Amino acid sequence: MEGLTRVPVREQEPEVRAANFEEVCLGYNEEEAVAEAKRCLNCKNAQCMKGCPVSINIPAFVEQVKNGDFTKAYEIISESSALPAVCGRVCPQESQCEGKCIRGFKGDPVSIGKLERFVADTARENGIKPKTAAEKNGKKVAVIGGGPAGLTCAGDLAKMGYDVTIFEAFHKAGGVLGYGIPEFRLPKSIVQKEIDNLKNMGVKVETSMVIGKTFTIDELMKEEGYSAVFIGSGAGLPSFMHIPGENLNGVYSANEFLTRINLMKAYQFPSADTPVYVGKNVAVIGGGNVAMDAARSAKRLGAENVYIIYRRSEEEMPARLEEVHHAKEEGIIFKMLCNPTKIIGDENFWVKEIECIEMELGEPDASGRRRPSPKAGSEFTLDMETVIVAIGQSPNPLIKQTTPHLETQKWGGIITDEQTGATSIPGVFAGGDAVTGAATVILAMGAGKTAAKNIDEYIKNHQ
Ligand code: FAD
Ligand code: SF4
Repeated sequence: MEGLTRVPVREQEPEVRAANFEEVCLGYNEEEAVAEAKRCLNCKNAQCMKGCPVSINIPAFVEQVKNGDFTKAYEIISESSALPAVCGRVCPQESQCEGKCIRGFKGDPVSIGKLERFVADTARENGIKPKTAAEKNGKKVAVIGGGPAGLTCAGDLAKMGYDVTIFEAFHKAGGVLGYGIPEFRLPKSIVQKEIDNLKNMGVKVETSMVIGKTFTIDELMKEEGYSAVFIGSGAGLPSFMHIPGENLNGVYSANEFLTRINLMKAYQFPSADTPVYVGKNVAVIGGGNVAMDAARSAKRLGAENVYIIYRRSEEEMPARLEEVHHAKEEGIIFKMLCNPTKIIGDENFWVKEIECIEMELGEPDASGRRRPSPKAGSEFTLDMETVIVAIGQSPNPLIKQTTPHLETQKWGGIITDEQTGATSIPGVFAGGDAVTGAATVILAMGAGKTAAKNIDEYIKNHQ
């Protein structure tokens, strides 16, 4: 039957891309995008929209792609999303909009993500920008953190006329989009362009401003004149395994490894200032997107054997299917049902070997995934020069420590009202990874949007 399969997207060949940091996916051209858009049935009760946390009017924008009116398509997307070129590249569409697309019942779902990317890229290449903000209303809102949650909240508030300032701890805004997700999945120039669009709408971005050090939230509200604050400070504190040898030279948190490569451009060393060391054999511990990004980056930096070491089976791996598929194509070795027990060093305290134990799966645990347990006597060692730990992140405690009365979970997540994003402090809202723990770009954006709407209501009710 016609239209069952999606228009394939062009990619760099695996053996070529495994040695460079250029974008893997080349995206649709005009002809391909129109052909793919024609597969959309323009459903009256569009299920795809129910899967989109920022409620993009998917059938309407796809219809415009079908008609060849890419500017109109961009206007439709921009009404709901400040970061379409980003989302078109990194959103887990397979479990969101595309996971619900009616076309997917018999054949491939419409390639909504790739169409979104095409529309955003075409607009950028033709200098088309989202509509500028409404007239200013004289009220100031502070946004802590320049990741997807903060950027979305700031963009929506600017559209409503607020004077918004983002305070970002790093020297560049973008959050994980800038420091975590590698160039070959998300070029940094594209992230910057979407941030520039927000600046054009009047959003101010103050970098190298650590809230909790430069200002506290209390100072922002009582001394700096902000009517409300949004906390979108993410979950940037890496977790470790707490096994012997984790303090050896050659062991990184995935955060440090990826920040050096992406934000500090270590892959361009020596023309960039920051180097990063990878040995011949690299072990990445974990099975999420972060682990895939670290492994694929290590391969591109010249490692011969890169292992993903994960304690459950491939079925339970939280990484996006596309990332796992790309990693395998690039030669990453998957060691499933396997857990590190010890990192062994040489006489100079550099990593020499990693000891692991085989695992087996039992009954499901609280997360619904089958619980792994070690198989007695199955220990083995692998020669290793670099170990990258990618087993999770939690919120940095600084904001909690410097904000009395801000209620948080035991693990550090800020407690909010699910419907509004309001925290335990009047006028202070929060969203994204700082609330949920490590999640996704689009969920962070959805939380930023919800908070913006409720900040507006809060300010109107308290003036
Ligand atoms: P963040 O993006 O973490 O941004 C928070 C910002 O706040 C940071 O810039 C930080 O510097 C700043 N900040 C922190 N504390 C302070 C402070 N005290 N003062 C001022 N600023 C502060 N999700 C996907 O959907 N698809 C993917 O493919 C994907 N891949 C990923 C790959 C990696 C390597 C990582 C780490 C995550 C990935 N994710 C992916 C998850 C996704 O990036 C996050 O869920 C998302 O970025 C969360 O957005 P956020 O705005 O809440 O936080
Ligand atoms: Fe088009 Fe699929 Fe959405 Fe229907 S569910 S409108 S086919 S993208």
